[in-house]
Amino acid sequence: MKASVEAQLRLLELADLDAELSRLDHRRRTLPELEEYQRIETRDTQLGDELAALEATESDLRRELGKAEADVDQVRSRVERDKTRLDAGQVSSPRELENLQSEIVSLARRQSDLEEIELGVMERQEAAERRHGELTQEQATLAGQLDEVAARRDAALGEIGEQVDKAEHLRAGVAVEVPADLLDLYGKLRAQHGVGAAVLRGGRCEGCHLSLNTVDLARIRAADPDEVLRCEECRRILVRVPESGR
Ligand SMILES: [Zn+2]
Repeated sequence: MKASVEAQLRLLELADLDAELSRLDHRRRTLPELEEYQRIETRDTQLGDELAALEATESDLRRELGKAEADVDQVRSRVERDKTRLDAGQVSSPRELENLQSEIVSLARRQSDLEEIELGVMERQEAAERRHGELTQEQATLAGQLDEVAARRDAALGEIGEQVDKAEHLRAGVAVEVPADLLDLYGKLRAQHGVGAAVLRGGRCEGCHLSLNTVDLARIRAADPDEVLRCEECRRILVRVPESGR
């Protein structure tokens, strides 16, 4: 393939701009804010699950407390009823009296046990409420952090986007000055190797950083300046500049 020295030099500008675009693309995909955002989001999801489980527990505790209260009430009213009967002197038989008194004693014990249970449920409820408060607080903190990271991420992406636009604009300006067949070859090589063209400097291909042997260098020296050369090692288009070396 043949192309003017000018067109070949343009390829080097194109390669620089493409390298710049690759760097920008890499930066865009590896922004620390992306990972940071994801980490916070993951914690936020965990928190949501924890809260849902806690709310289920709180609902269970409310039910448990209702039952404990009803149990206590039931025993309490039975004690009251017994005491009323006792005080009213409705019980005359000594045996019945003894039974009633012993029932009151055992009911009082039962009431104290049930009140203990009720208290235990209330303590668990308080602990759950405290935990609920902590989780809600953390959730609010995370929401603030997500906003803050998203703002930083968007600012960075915006800046990168501007640089991409600038590089693409420059690239389009350079590409129109490269003949279609050369541009096509450059594009294919770039797709294959990441870089389509490299400069020959000091007898070395700057694409693969290998020094050319004397035979290849002699062939290059003899080649017409319009001849499009390729690096024997990496197959990239090799562009000669004045300091390419003899
Ligand atoms: Zn090479």
